Amino acid sequence: MSDLVAIAASDNLRIALAYATADNLAGRPVYAAGARCALRPKAAQCLYQAAHAARQAELSLLVLDAYRPAGVQDVFWQVIADARYVAAPTSGSNHTRGVAVDVTLLDSDGQALDMGTGFDAMCEQSHHDRDDLPAAVQRNRQLLLGIMLHAGFRPITTEWWHYELPDAQQYAFIPEHEMVRMITSSIC
Ligand SMILES: [Zn+2]
Repeated sequence: MSDLVAIAASDNLRIALAYATADNLAGRPVYAAGARCALRPKAAQCLYQAAHAARQAELSLLVLDAYRPAGVQDVFWQVIADARYVAAPTSGSNHTRGVAVDVTLLDSDGQALDMGTGFDAMCEQSHHDRDDLPAAVQRNRQLLLGIMLHAGFRPITTEWWHYELPDAQQYAFIPEHEMVRMITSSIC
């Protein structure tokens, strides 16, 4: 049985993997076409719960990344060798453990809420606990934080979009062949 389950998109759980496009910090697609959004079952359950909470507020959750093969982590490390934003290849990423997600919120028209910076903006403005952001941005980030905390995730200090299971370190890294299998069995 696989360690990963594919995430099913719905009206209130949208999936747009940023690393399958050129719109990411590597500036080119680093996932194969048809790459699946996948997580360990426990993290998937929390994500569905978060999407349910978002729907109650007439919002949707947009997933930008979930399971990430270790090889992709190496590509990012070559672009930004800064451990505040990218896990060093030697230590791995909680994305590679299958228990971390990058997410934002969409309004009822499908427009992304203003979070002050873009996803993957590696700067201080992306940190939580900033006191120099507009009130609307603070509200949006706090809304996302509340939804994700309530669903069982925890934040990290440097990225408003990144959430992971509190016991992430307890999970082993998942080999890349798992992701390849997810890609080749693609149904979406
Ligand atoms: Zn992340």
